[in-house]
Amino acid sequence: MTSLDRAGRLLVVGAVNVDLVVATDRLPGPGETVVGPTVTRHGGGKGANAAVAAARAGAGVRYCGAVGSDDMGASALAELRDSGVDVTDVDVLDGVATGMALIVVDPHGENQIAVGAGANAVLGTDEVRAAVDRAAGWAGCVLVSTEIPADAVAAAVTTAAARGIRCVVNPAPVLPSTVDLMASAPVLTPNSSELRDLYGLVSEGVAAPEISAAEQATAVASRTGAPVLVTLGADGVLIADPASEVISLPAGQVAWVVDTTGAGDTFNGVFAAALAAGSMVVEAARRGVAAASLSVAAVGARAGMPSDDEIRRAM
Ligand code: ADP
Repeated sequence: MTSLDRAGRLLVVGAVNVDLVVATDRLPGPGETVVGPTVTRHGGGKGANAAVAAARAGAGVRYCGAVGSDDMGASALAELRDSGVDVTDVDVLDGVATGMALIVVDPHGENQIAVGAGANAVLGTDEVRAAVDRAAGWAGCVLVSTEIPADAVAAAVTTAAARGIRCVVNPAPVLPSTVDLMASAPVLTPNSSELRDLYGLVSEGVAAPEISAAEQATAVASRTGAPVLVTLGADGVLIADPASEVISLPAGQVAWVVDTTGAGDTFNGVFAAALAAGSMVVEAARRGVAAASLSVAAVGARAGMPSDDEIRRAM
């Protein structure tokens, strides 16, 4: 068995952004300009972040997405390559900007974010289908995050199903069309607000505020026939599997929470890679939780993502 057989081979389909962060004394009001002393740049986008998390945890990772043929796109790809992610399946598009998040943060950690989706909004279905086809026989799992066109999400999920590759969908955001993909039995990994949106889709908008997260997740899982894993921040992860009782996994103990940005992406990348390596859902989720809880100890989505050794020590 090679080390990649143990750590998993994963295709990630989703968005890549460049995050530009300005720290200011206060957030601007409408029409107002505030000035901060510096601007920092971080790699971002839920798909690309998850790809980096999986690679750092030792998995073999291919990433499929789109960037513009600009300097930002070139550096976003260089960062992914440096993290060990294969970017052969990335479409480099002329005449469109690389996705960018403009983030202002105040001293209390409150923020304002505007995202220009750019190339992410025009990722093509043909490119996605080709990437999943190319991954058949190599990848043990396809992870799809949904900050890309609905038809690109559908292409990834249905092609993975046709090829018999396990598929995890991180529904962030929940697209109305997600309900059409449930017949392909994707494993879904919403956070608590996304779970409410998914529940709204499967219950056709019947408002039921008293229904617990466990009951909502169970209702969604009975629709897909596949596990639903709900990330609950400091409360860990809840697993609703049609084949068993609801299970709750506590988060790892964190002495000092520095920045939770990207915690969900870390969970998704490491969880999907563990599934790709053949782990059972609960075992894969334990690994994802351990990695995500380690990731909140550093600033930025990617800086705190742990190595395989660090994850093992934390479990
Ligand atoms: P998202 O970023 O998608 O909203 P969550 O905030 O639910 O995701 O976080 C995902 C995972 O990260 C959690 O299930 C948990 O394992 C870990 N995590 C997040 N916040 C904390 C925290 N404050 N302490 C420990 N672990 C955390």
